[in-house]
Amino acid sequence: SSPDTGVYKVMLLGDSGVGKSTLAGIFGGVEDTFPHGSEHPEDTYERNLLVDGEKTTLIVYDIWEEAGSQSWMQDSCLQMGDAFLLIFSVTDRSTFQRLPSLLLQLRTARPHRHIPIILVGNKGDLVRSREVNMEEGRSLAGMLNCKYTEISAALHHNTHELLEGVVRQIRLRKDEG
Ligand code: GDP
Ligand code: MG
Repeated sequence: SSPDTGVYKVMLLGDSGVGKSTLAGIFGGVEDTFPHGSEHPEDTYERNLLVDGEKTTLIVYDIWEEAGSQSWMQDSCLQMGDAFLLIFSVTDRSTFQRLPSLLLQLRTARPHRHIPIILVGNKGDLVRSREVNMEEGRSLAGMLNCKYTEISAALHHNTHELLEGVVRQIRLRKDEG
């Protein structure tokens, strides 16, 4: 594996509309990404953070949709990441149902690597339009051998914890080799 420089690439995956760009903006420390969003959002954000007393730089990539359905571009996204967030919206079951095939594509692209993969249910604030409950999310993650978390990018709920969790997962996997 590549030498540990303390700079890690985090790739945001998931269907259109699940909240990838909103979350990327929050991770990048951009204020006011909600509710109006930016006319021209960035697709890459660099963020320095101190987690458990150690400095880390995360580069967050929101480029999955730019790859469209071009498999070579999708593959280059999957080859690049040191960690992956598979994001769905708890208000849209179809985005949840896409996760197993997305994960299969990722594991096929990176078969011999221990990479942190976290399933992320976004839009937890939209209580009344929820279509996927937390137990279903947990249970799918368990079956797929991934971590699971729910967030609200709109309310910044659990987003900082997720960011720190990603860093800890990456460090853990690096130590395991
Ligand atoms: P992307 O297509 O995956 O990049 O999704 P966006 O970040 O563009 O978000 C799609 C829409 O969902 C936008 O209107 C966002 O403002 C909205 N959105 C994103 N996250 C949340 C959230 O946690 N709660 C709510 N209520 N809306 C959200
Ligand atoms: Mg987007």
